[in-house]
Amino acid sequence: MTEPTFPFRVPFDEACAIVDAVAAERRLQPQTVSLSRAHSHVLARDVVATLPQPPFDNSAMDGFALRHADLATDGAPTRLRLAGEQFAGPDAALTVEAGSCVRITTGAPLPAGADTVVMKENTDLDGKDVVVRIAPRLGQHVRRAGEDSNVGDLLLQAGDTLTPARIGLAASQGLAQLDVVRRPTVAVFATGDELVEPGMSLGPGQIYNSNRDQLMALLRAEGLEPVAFPTLPDDAAQVTSALRHAGEAFDLVLTCGGVSAGEKDLLPELLQRRGRVRVWKVMMKPGMPLLLAEGDTLGPALFLCLPGNPVSVLATWLALGRRLVDGLQGRAPRALRRARLASDWTKTHERLELLRGRWWIDDDGISWVEPNPADGSHRMQAAADSDALIVLDAGPRDYARGTPVDVLPY
Ligand code: AMP
Ligand code: MG
Repeated sequence: MTEPTFPFRVPFDEACAIVDAVAAERRLQPQTVSLSRAHSHVLARDVVATLPQPPFDNSAMDGFALRHADLATDGAPTRLRLAGEQFAGPDAALTVEAGSCVRITTGAPLPAGADTVVMKENTDLDGKDVVVRIAPRLGQHVRRAGEDSNVGDLLLQAGDTLTPARIGLAASQGLAQLDVVRRPTVAVFATGDELVEPGMSLGPGQIYNSNRDQLMALLRAEGLEPVAFPTLPDDAAQVTSALRHAGEAFDLVLTCGGVSAGEKDLLPELLQRRGRVRVWKVMMKPGMPLLLAEGDTLGPALFLCLPGNPVSVLATWLALGRRLVDGLQGRAPRALRRARLASDWTKTHERLELLRGRWWIDDDGISWVEPNPADGSHRMQAAADSDALIVLDAGPRDYARGTPVDVLPY
């Protein structure tokens, strides 16, 4: 191979920067979705409050709205005249006069004159009177207009992931729909003459295609709706034709396998000839052969080619693939997770490593991660027994038990 004209064998951090730059160049457009479809989308525009929250003073309890000054100051019960009822719903426009109270339910507007609510459980009914047995504090059980947020407050920011709580907040402002960033459409291809689909019978030398369904699950976990294509044989004409079709129709074409240096690894040559490679080979373990390219003559899609080993697929997706689709949607950076290594670990090589491990939080609130010693990129049992990737920085190092490290839970 002649000296590559694109970033080649780059450190992991540099690969992250390239992924971020490519994603920023190709940021997807906003679209409007109804709130019921907004979950896990990325918000495209800030949401600013147009209503105070709560919109009016209201009761936090079922009980009686009263004037605190009417209550006995010596702890003795107070008898108040029951002057009316205000339930959650239309404002009955009642006024609490001195010596009286109004029956009220949670969320009902506080009647004029009242400043406090006594909960029902602290009262007794006596004919037309209410006896307050345990006096509330001044202002107790009243939710003040605007105490949560006020008109003009920034409620949600572009880039925020729409969690259920954020969707509820948007609904409280009366918004029936939100502008979110369109999600990328993704085509998924596995490559390899040795692959057989689960459910079929295996011949000599064949293995089941583990990556397709693993990738589909990883993508669906991001709220994407990927399309899986039939597995590609290691045949240049068929690979070219399939990728060209997908390259015209999808935002992202995701492949696995055939991107390394073997005789049948056709993708690097194809994407150098027909596409525009943005990075090939990242100094990470597993997952070194990863390649990111723009489709160019293969179509407008981005092509992310992951290595073939199933654990490499998991690691490269979580570390770089997910970063790419986050970037395409302008998603705010994910919270970093840290944990202490639960065992000593000796790292002898230069590349950044993504080990598999089990992550937990002990009774003292300290998070720990136990690396799985089966670190080969074909060791699917170890990946399945684990629930996090452990990030060990570039360079050899002896890690002592207790050393804090980054983790990517999965
Ligand atoms: P490759 O990069 O194509 O040489 O693949 C690397 C290793 O991953 C080989 O052992 C392949 O058999 C294996 N492999 C590739 N694709 C898949 C797949 N879809 N499912 C399971 N193993 C795979
Ligand atoms: Mg292969």
